[in-house]
Amino acid sequence: MKTAEVREKYLKFFEERGHKIMASASLVPQNDPTTLFTGSGMQPMIPYLLGEKHPLGTRITDSQKSFRSGDIDDIGDNRHTTFFEMLGNWSLGDYFKKEQVPWMFEFLTKEIGIDPNKLYVSVLIGDEKNNIPKDTETAEIWKGLFADKGIEAKEVEIGSEKNGYDVGMQGGRIFYYDVGKNWWSRVGVPDKMPAGEPGGPDTEMFYEFSDIPHDPKYGENCHPNCDCGRFMEIGNNVFMEYKKNDDGTFSKLPQSNVDFGGGLERITAASLNTADVFQIDIFRGIIETLEGLSGKSYSDTNYTAAFRIIADHTRSAIFLIGDGVYPSNADQGYFVRRLLRRAIRYWDKLGIKKEGIAELVDPILDYYEDAYVDTYNKKEEIKSEIKKEEQKFRETLERGMKEFEKGIDSFTLFTTYGFPVELTEELAKEKGVIIGRSEFDLKMKGHQNLSRSGSEQKFKGGLADHSQETVRLHTAHHLLLAALQNVLGSNVKQRGSNITSERLRIDFSFERKMTDEDKKKVEDLVNIWISEKIPMIRRDMPKAEAEALGAEHEFGATYGDVVSVYFAERSDGTRVSKEFCGGPHVQNTSELSHFKILKEEAVASGIRRVKAVLE
Ligand code: ATP
Ligand code: MG
Repeated sequence: MKTAEVREKYLKFFEERGHKIMASASLVPQNDPTTLFTGSGMQPMIPYLLGEKHPLGTRITDSQKSFRSGDIDDIGDNRHTTFFEMLGNWSLGDYFKKEQVPWMFEFLTKEIGIDPNKLYVSVLIGDEKNNIPKDTETAEIWKGLFADKGIEAKEVEIGSEKNGYDVGMQGGRIFYYDVGKNWWSRVGVPDKMPAGEPGGPDTEMFYEFSDIPHDPKYGENCHPNCDCGRFMEIGNNVFMEYKKNDDGTFSKLPQSNVDFGGGLERITAASLNTADVFQIDIFRGIIETLEGLSGKSYSDTNYTAAFRIIADHTRSAIFLIGDGVYPSNADQGYFVRRLLRRAIRYWDKLGIKKEGIAELVDPILDYYEDAYVDTYNKKEEIKSEIKKEEQKFRETLERGMKEFEKGIDSFTLFTTYGFPVELTEELAKEKGVIIGRSEFDLKMKGHQNLSRSGSEQKFKGGLADHSQETVRLHTAHHLLLAALQNVLGSNVKQRGSNITSERLRIDFSFERKMTDEDKKKVEDLVNIWISEKIPMIRRDMPKAEAEALGAEHEFGATYGDVVSVYFAERSDGTRVSKEFCGGPHVQNTSELSHFKILKEEAVASGIRRVKAVLE
């Protein structure tokens, strides 16, 4: 089956069961200060799982772009990619186990055509200490479903993952694991949860590749959670049904939720009965292109990992750039730099004797024209960013390598030659040298303290916090964008933003330096709007309606079907500003005092940056 077919079938399957299809959120979380990237379908859904009402109702389904920087060291194996799509469906206090489990079984066996003999599942063994019962309810449902297919599903108690290596499969089909494996909460196992926190058992599904023998390097016996590659986790159903009380005990939540997450690429691989996710259609173009350029074969095990790393890292960089993350030395941008530079090194290792990693953009995006049209349409921009990054890296690569040969100073290599520290570590390892991280980290800290104003951290939708000062500057930011468009022309589009309690910063597209007169005009306009005492109004509306109104998109953000829009709107209905935005904002522009531009500078070709304050 093709990846696009699996995605489509899944969304349709749940749509037919009363679910509303939601667009994928951005890879850069819009309302979550705790992480740099969206790493699962659940992440953008958390407020709703905690009880906030979702504008689309109680049954929702999607395919969410996910990026897990933490999986980067696994790339090269048969089933991990840093970027992947997570198929998701949610019940927000609607249906529960007895609907979800049969639906998943039906989807996998009937829609995708997976042989039920190759499916294995895990459930929660319980947690005596916290009085959380064994999830026999879920096991019974699985048992019945397997029985319908003529399969006797034997239950086996495993407990800890470690114990699994001792006791092995024992002819089981349904495996009971402890809270370390089959419990979900935002902070992990029940003992770790603070009072008020919701959580619950989960049930995972594994596909067995029976032609892959168990690798005893991982442990004596194989079991579904073994990492040898014989079993691949294809999906996880979380049943959020408990809450931790103030006295440390657990009780049932008044509303229980279902949260399913399943890897699109892995389910597609399972549909083809291939243990290698890189064998599915979406990687075919890039692998063939690389084979053509290098004269090497993907199936030559000396090179398989290099092919996978290049394919994975390039795909991730494409989607991250598509969501507005440019290669840089800080924050999210650092990962894009690291991915691209690592891909380029492996490109060289394949012996490709020319520049041109951007040539891999088309062979990947060709598979995403329908599903991610926004990213697809940014193709040329993505190519040019990747080209620029390759040029930059190659310019310093030779000199940096000389520096590296002289002696390994990972800090100088990073600051002067743009070598991500992990790259230096890899180079050193190839020479049999292990370099310590502590000195680098220490110097890095000093470096950051110098170049940052301390409070300038990346947070919530570009806001460092929700203090009164930050909120006032956020509203000023909206007025500033409108004023820039007024003075410099409607070509001005926001390309990035960052707001702390001390100042605001906006990056926007514009070709030349602003003159003093431009700056004065912009300042005056913002100050006029402040003195006009204009109300800030939030309205939730269908995305299409907001777009028809010409509301400004936040750069790189992708939105669901219902969006919230902030208007600076006079009482006669005329509007100064309208932006897709989740807030928060002041109620009235009169709360802003005097606006002043501190600095205007270039950040990249065609992108300017303004820093401003309220006095
Ligand atoms: P694994 O143990 O294989 O790394 P996980 O426990 O990290 O998986 P979850 O956090 O439960 O996975 O994510 C839900 C689903 O997303 C998984 O069942 C799997 O299908 C998919 N998935 C997770 N990580 C990756 C990855 N790096 N590449 C591809 N698919 C993934
Ligand atoms: Mg994982």
